[in-house]
Amino acid sequence: MRTANMIVAEVLAELRDVVRPGLPTAEMDGVAEELTRRRGAVPAFKGYEVHGRVFPRSVCISINDEVVHGIPSEKRVLREGDIVGIDFGVCYQGFYGDAAITVAVGQVDPEATRLMHATNDALRCGIEEVQVGHRLGDVSAAIQERVERDGFSVVRDFVGHGIGRRLHEEPQVPNFGTRDRGVRLREGMVLAIEPMVNAGGSDVMIKEDGWTAVTKDGSRSAHFEHSVAVTRNGPYVLSQA
Ligand code: MG
Repeated sequence: MRTANMIVAEVLAELRDVVRPGLPTAEMDGVAEELTRRRGAVPAFKGYEVHGRVFPRSVCISINDEVVHGIPSEKRVLREGDIVGIDFGVCYQGFYGDAAITVAVGQVDPEATRLMHATNDALRCGIEEVQVGHRLGDVSAAIQERVERDGFSVVRDFVGHGIGRRLHEEPQVPNFGTRDRGVRLREGMVLAIEPMVNAGGSDVMIKEDGWTAVTKDGSRSAHFEHSVAVTRNGPYVLSQA
């Protein structure tokens, strides 16, 4: 899983570098797939099926008010001032890796910067709670508290997840919750922790394409994710280079 996640980290670093105004998101998808296959891995999202609906691309690219699951397209072009969520997963020798970042396209306004910072920092707060004997609610509550401290809201319709021989495994990892509740963390578990944070209200809806989740109030959204193993020495962030 470390190898799978290192490939994910490498691809995300590459995508972060290619982001610029004028870039069609389909090009980012091409870069990700090419780099992944060259490493002997398989993009995990391409062909992923939910209720008979198949995700057609390798990366989820979600811009501004898009929360998650945006579909790369030749027609969708990055613009100066956008914030771009890039969510990527691979399968390597039967094991999955999954991570996400949100990046600025050129110069962005102060709220966008604050939103991205709060979301990434909330992920860090959640990861700190990944300790043997802690409960899932400790992770969830830490994320929620950090987000709400800045006046933003966590998305409730989508959650993080266990990960391993499948992309999505038990348990679900909500970005909201109560300390001392939920599954007790044991050595060897791996969690994909992924706060999705809206600048406005927490409500989301799905666009006509059947995949893209957007904020109901049109506010912007940020998303960061790491795959994190529970070890006796604390959290091991598998998707961190
Ligand atoms: Mg995930």
